[in-house]
This record gives sequence, C-alpha cells and structure tokens, in this order.
Amino acid sequence: MARVQLDNLTKVFEAAGGPLVAVEELDLEIPDGEFVVVVGPSGCGKSTTLRMLAGLETVTDGEIRIGDDVINDKAPKDRDIAMVFQDYALYPHKTVRENIGYGLRLSTDLSDEEINKRVQEATQMMGIDDLLDKKPGALSGGQQQRVATGRAIVREPAVFLFDEPLSNLDAKLRKHMRTELARIHSELGITTVYVTHDQEEAMTLADRIVVLNDGKLQQVGTPKDVYYRPTNLFVADFIGSPSMNFFDVSLETDASGGRLVHKGFTYDVSQGFVDAVREQTDTTDFVLGIRPENARFGSAADEGKTVTGTVEVVEVVGSDNFIYLDIDGEEFRLRTTSEREPELGSTLEVTFDEGDISLFDANTEDAVIHGHRTPGGQETTVEQGTTAEQ
Ligand code: ATP
Repeated sequence: MARVQLDNLTKVFEAAGGPLVAVEELDLEIPDGEFVVVVGPSGCGKSTTLRMLAGLETVTDGEIRIGDDVINDKAPKDRDIAMVFQDYALYPHKTVRENIGYGLRLSTDLSDEEINKRVQEATQMMGIDDLLDKKPGALSGGQQQRVATGRAIVREPAVFLFDEPLSNLDAKLRKHMRTELARIHSELGITTVYVTHDQEEAMTLADRIVVLNDGKLQQVGTPKDVYYRPTNLFVADFIGSPSMNFFDVSLETDASGGRLVHKGFTYDVSQGFVDAVREQTDTTDFVLGIRPENARFGSAADEGKTVTGTVEVVEVVGSDNFIYLDIDGEEFRLRTTSEREPELGSTLEVTFDEGDISLFDANTEDAVIHGHRTPGGQETTVEQGTTAEQ
C-alpha cells in the first residue's frame, strides 16, 4: 500500500497538427488506501494520466511518486502497480488459473505452491474459484472481468489502476461488479485510481472524485463536495443527471434586498443573499444554477420567486417524474414525485428556495454561492461561497 503523488504532471503528444497538451500541470495527492475516481468528458486526459502512472506513457514534465520514490523512469513491472483494462486483456489460450498466475511467474521468484495459493485466494475473493480450468472464451463478460480483477489482486500491488473496467458489461452486471469492487477495496485497502465515464460509478465508489477538463484539474473532492459545492460552472454542469439548470441573470439591488433578473423571469432574493454575494464579488452578471430536484410546483405563497414555463416533456422514471419546461426558449429540468403529472403544452409555475440557488460569476465561471441544502433538507458547509440567511 502506498501514497501516490502527482506533481505538475504534464503530457504533451506530438500530434500531426502540432503539440497536443493532454494533461497540464496536474497536482494530486492520494493518501494511502484512498479510492480516487477520475472523471471528465471524452479526451480530457483521464486515460493518459492513468497510463503515465502505469508507465505505459512517458511523462513530458513533472513527477509521479509512489510512497517516497519518484517512479517517472521506472519500467511498468517495477512500479508495484496492477492495472485492469476495459477490454480485460486476458490471454485467450491460457486457463483462468494460468492467466491469473502468469504475472507472478514472470515477475517474482515465488514457488509454484505459493503462486497456486495466491491464485486460489484471489479467485475465492472474486467468486470464480470454480472456473480455474476454463479459458476466457468460455466465460461471460462478467466472469472475464472478475478474472482480470483477480489477476490484479494476486499481485498484491501498492496501487490498483482501473481504466473503465465495467464499461463492457450490461447495466445490471455493472452495478453488481461495482459493489464487488467496493467490497474488495474495503477488504484490501489498496490505494486505487479508477477512470470512468459513469457518474453513478464515480459517486458510489469514490472516496474522492477528480474532475478533469481539457487536461486541466477542475476539482478534487468527496462525491458530496463535487455535487453540492462545485468549484465552477464546468463541474456543476458535468456532475449530476439530469444536470443542473443554468440561467444568465443579473443581480439588481435595492434597500430591501434584490432580484435575480433573467430575460424570462425575476426572482426576489433577501438582503442576506445580496450581502453574501457582495462579500465575494462586485460583479452583477451571474449564472444562476438550480438542481432539478430542488425545484417544485409553485403556489400563491411563492410570489416573486416563481418561474413560468410551458411543459415540453414529461418523463416518468419510477417514483419520480422529470419535467422539461420551456422558459423563453431555454430548458428548465424539474424532478418531482410522480403524484402530479402536468399536461404537455400546459403552463406551469415552478419555484425553488433561495438557499438552493448556486451562483457562478458569468465571466470567470467560478462559483460565488453554493446552494446549501441537500435534498433531505440538511445543511452542508460551504467552503468557497457563503450562503444567505433565509
Ligand atoms: P476517453 O474518455 O475518450 O477515453 P480520455 O479522457 O481518457 O478520453 P485521453 O485518452 O487521455 O482522454 O486523451 C487525451 C487527449 O490526448 C486527447 O485529445 C487524445 O486525442 C490525445 N491523445 C491520447 N493519446 C495520444 C497519442 N498516442 N498521440 C496523440 N494524441 C493522443
């Protein structure tokens, strides 16, 4: 087990169109035993980061440390790392037993007996000890995935790297394997760096999530941090499904408080809210963010705090409805219980609490105010922005 540290890690590819910066000055410290999940849009540098850690890609600049050792120039086999790939990369002509034990035979001088013992333990842990004599072609996708993970476990590495390991499995199996990986991690406590496209996977597996965009680090934080306290507009938009609603607004103030003015609605805010904004910035142009689950049907009591739109789509997803409203040409996504199902084309008034509003500086796109309540109504602490008193 070990701590992993990336200092100023940079990768530039010499591509046909000129140099391409795939990873730019990435700083990241992963404490021993932590499960870190790296997310970001396609091409943001997730795999390149992982491949530099594994030694499959050279480092252009910066340092990678495992424990106290700088490993930039170490061969992959000397890094004490085990990697599980998306396509499993199993040897088709070897049995499960041989596939799992092969790496140990190559890279250690363990006795046959010791290797067999480790293979047995790893396959028991993965629930595939009845498949030891089968070849990969005779296994399902989920079983192959287990073999690939077993092969990583048997190495007893300091660090596990996973590159989209579950993406070839169907949704149900993916969920199941996710639980298995969480169990394995809690049993072994090995530092893990895991790349995925799947937000649910990231939110459920990660101790901390690393969000990359365009090769640059956007935020590192617990799943709750990145969801409730996104550092900027990019993270707020990327994390969450359906994603946060955004509206360009300007803040107008007067003696009694203020208003967030959008071209299609005006939302009154308290003096406390205005003060909290003013503590952060003098600017007047913001992007208002509101999570779909924080919006609800409005009533007469919500005067001055409603948004009116036309119902475009109603999606029934089990106990919840996703309602898509048209607000003066922009979309407002609302997540509600399925008790009330508005008619398509009808006019609907929706509202949300001031305390759930996130505000982003329209120019820098940095967060100024974070909505401070979880859906359960519990308050969360706010680090960057300050929230209003209600
Ligand atoms: P995805 O989610 O699609 O797998 P990713 O976030 O893992 O994407 P990378 O594969 O790390 O992204 O790629 C980052 C950038 O580097 C992309 O623009 C990609 O085209 C580029 N890139 C990756 N490998 C090479 C290479 N060998 N030569 C040139 N450019 C590369």
